[in-house]
Formats: sequence, C-alpha cells, structure tokens
Amino acid sequence: MSAEITTGIWTGTTLGPATDDSTFDVHDPATGEIIAEVADATVDDALAALGAAHDAQDAWAATTARHRSVVLADLARAVTTRSEELARVLSREMGKPLREAAAEVANTAEFFRWYAGEAERLPGRYADSPGGQGRILVTRRPVGPCLAITPWNFPLSMAARKIAPALAAGCTVVVKPAAETPLVMLKLGEILARVFSHHEVPEGVVSIVPTTDAAALSAALMADPRLRKVTFTGSTAVGRTLVRQSADLLLRTSMELGGNAPFVVAADADLDAAVNGAVAAKTRNAGQVCVAANRFIVVADVAEEFTARLAERFDALPVGPGTDPETRVGPLVTPEAVARVSALVDAAVAAGARQVTARTRADVPGEGYFYPPTVLADVPCGADVLNTEIFGPVATVSVVGDLEEAIAVANDTDAGLAAYGYSASAAGVEALASRLKAGMVAVNRVNIADVAAPFGGVDQSGFGREGGTEGIEEYLDTRYVALP
Ligand code: NAD
Repeated sequence: MSAEITTGIWTGTTLGPATDDSTFDVHDPATGEIIAEVADATVDDALAALGAAHDAQDAWAATTARHRSVVLADLARAVTTRSEELARVLSREMGKPLREAAAEVANTAEFFRWYAGEAERLPGRYADSPGGQGRILVTRRPVGPCLAITPWNFPLSMAARKIAPALAAGCTVVVKPAAETPLVMLKLGEILARVFSHHEVPEGVVSIVPTTDAAALSAALMADPRLRKVTFTGSTAVGRTLVRQSADLLLRTSMELGGNAPFVVAADADLDAAVNGAVAAKTRNAGQVCVAANRFIVVADVAEEFTARLAERFDALPVGPGTDPETRVGPLVTPEAVARVSALVDAAVAAGARQVTARTRADVPGEGYFYPPTVLADVPCGADVLNTEIFGPVATVSVVGDLEEAIAVANDTDAGLAAYGYSASAAGVEALASRLKAGMVAVNRVNIADVAAPFGGVDQSGFGREGGTEGIEEYLDTRYVALP
C-alpha cells in the first residue's frame, strides 16, 4: 500500500489539516514502510479544539441523559458495523494480530454500549438532615471539558474507555492519540462525526488532535482554564509529569499507568490452565499490554515442568505481520522497542540468566520490528528485566519455596496494576485473592479486563478507574443542595 495523505485534526464534524500544514508519517511495524501521513496538530490547533469543546460544553451537558444514551448506543452499533475495517487499520498501524484487533474493536463497541446504559443511571441521593435542619440533595454534574491522552498499544479501546463515560456524564473531550497509531482513532472520528451529525450533537463535543509534540500540546491545554480534567493512559513517568502540571489549575486527573504484573503458580495449580494462562497473559499484543504478566513466580515443586512447557509453547507461536491470519505474535511497535527489549534480555543473559526458548532474533522476520517469544530462567535478582515493565514477549521465571514466599516476591514492586495467580485449593485461591497487591487480581484466569469492572491500579500504577459503574464518577463533580 502506498502512503496516503490523511489529514487528521477533527473538530466536530470537520476533518482538517494543521494550521502550519505540517504532517508526520505513520509506519507499518511489520515492514517499516510508511503507510500514511497525518496532519501534525500545533498548539494553536489544540487550543482551537479546546475552544470548541468549551463552547459546546453547556449545550451538551444540558441534553437529557436519554439523548446521550441514544447517541452512545448508536456509536456502539456504528463501530460494530465497521468492525472489519477498523480492525484492519488497527492491525496495520499497531502490528497486533487481526483477531486481537477484532477483539479490541468489539471491546470499543462494548464501552459505548455500557455507557449508553450508565448515562441513564447517574447517581444521586436524597436524605433528611439528622438534626432536623433541612434536607440534603446530592446530584452529579459533568466536570467539563476533558483532555484524553491515549497510548499506542490499545489506540481504539483506550480512547473509547475515556470518550464513552465522558459523553455519558455530559463532558466534552479533546483526544490526543499516540503519534505511532493515530489512524484508527481518525477512523473513529469519521464514525463519531456521522453519528453526531445524525443526532445534531453540537460541534466540538469530541475533537482529535494527533501530534508529534505531545508535551507542548498538553502543557498548553493544561495551562488553559477552560480545561477541567485530564485522563491519561500511558507510562508512569509521563503520568507523573501530567499530575505535576495539573496542580496549577487543580485539574481533575485519572492516571492509568504502567504495571509490573506478577503471575504466581502455586504447587497445587492446574498446570494446563496455568501454562495456557501464561501464554495468553504474556504474548497478547506481543507483550505490549499494561496488564501483561511481567514476572512468573513459580513454586519449586512445579517450576521445572512449568518452565519447559511454557518454552515449548512459546517456540511454537507463529511470529509475523498482524495482518496474516496465522500470526499469533506480531511485531513490536517501533525499532526502539525492539532495541529496549533486546537490551533487557542481553543484560540478563550476561548476568547469568538462561534462555530456555530456542528462537533468537535471526529466527523471526528481519524487516519489521519483530522479537521472538523468549523464556528466561535463573535470572539473577536485581536484573533490570525483573524490575522493569518489559513490554515485549519475554517471560522470566523465578523459583520460590512456597506460596508465602511467592506472594512476598509478587508484592515486592512499587507498581500495582494487575496480578495473576493459579492454585487449585481454596486456601491458595483465598491467599492469592486477598493478598496480592494490585488494583486488579485475577485468580485461575487471565482475561482481566471487563467493561463492567473497574480497571485501574494502586501505588505507582496510578489512580482512578475506567469501566464499570465506577468509570463515570471520574467525569462527574458532586453537587450538594441544602433545602429547607
Ligand atoms: P507514553 O507515556 O510514552 O505515552 C502515552 C501517551 O502520552 C501518548 O499519547 C504520548 O504521545 C503521550 N505523551 C508522551 N509524553 C507526553 C508528555 N510529556 N505530555 C503529554 N503527553 C505525553 O506511554 P507509551 O509507551 O505510549 O504506552 C505504554 C505505557 O502505557 C506502558 O507503561 C503501559 O503500561 C501503559 N498503559 C497503561 C494502561 C492502563 O490502563 N493502566 C493501558 C495501556 C497502557
């Protein structure tokens, strides 16, 4: 496919170029080829989008919950109708296998569908004052215009997880997609524009500003008092910067940050289930998932068998372009990502770790940004690969004496997004469920994300929740009215 010019700043129903006509390239990570040119939004473009969001805010907030619900339900239907096209674009620009891209699109529709329901169930409360001095009415109001900054690893569903509850609450949104993967978000822009136009949604309720200068755009938007909230999904380092920047105007913030998920295998675990879970939790999206299992912590009795079976499965996974239906593990997102993962593995091996899988980089396609699924054993304590979010298809197996020790090692991290554990006994399940430190714990299963559940972390993995009934609270202020 030759490069196509895709102008790319959505404000309301209009798709336009950057004010200075600048563009940037989008690459296919499976080949390195340029697949599109996208308008590179300037600070002025972003401020214009915020102006539009601000101007539309009151009118959108004044719509009925039913109206917003109908718009969201239509968005869910429209995303579903165009799911094949969206999945293809997503797979091409991000690299994930087509079946995973299709799952992400389905999940995107789910967020719109779920919040179509939640829009009609905004919480509120009424009470008599216990001292008899009057009545208490508690309602919720939209926080106001939001900036949504999204990552490249789930460029569509992470955006929907923010846009859907914001719209349901009555907020307007400026979306800043990751520069690696703006195309699928721009496709969603087409869908938003069509559905919004059908329902006469005010211009500017959602805008999209792709840019190569995220720091400058977000700093300018966050210094503008018209903005009231920042919702961010990305790395902990950038999250910290945004929280600092949010202080001046006391912006509401939601921070979905990085993880370092442990995956505990108890001596009594069902090993078939644990190995299946491990393969899925480590290799989905080539390991580029915030809730990807990062550290396998296995009780000694089953460690050898677990490690051998995991390595065997990893060696059999087809690696190739996401758009090939046979592919199970696609490329990483950029050459820098491959270099980072390689350096982590090479340093661990140099320090004494043993590579259990057979494939090396020479065994995967050379043109794109591929890295072979890799299992490392005997990794020395203190190796970076054990303390860093790997974000690649690399599993480390650490052996511990018993479940007590496994939980202690699992919790020895300042991250706290997701944690996994396998045990077949009631006592093991209870210990894992109640004592693993994370915002989300999965026991004897791995598909942790659920539109109806609160997704989010503790400690350095951030704060705020997305999805579930909790997700909409992030976009609502509480208003108390004292009545006689
Ligand atoms: P990143 O923090 O580099 O980028 C995320 C987004 O922030 C991108 O849109 C990027 O353009 C933007 N950005 C970068 N610097 C910025 C700045 N100074 N000011 C404002 N915006 C800026 O992260 P990434 O490498 O793209 O994404 C991977 C990270 O995201 C991983 O750490 C992963 O765990 C995390 N993540 C978390 C969740 C979650 O729900 N907790 C989900 C997906 C990804």
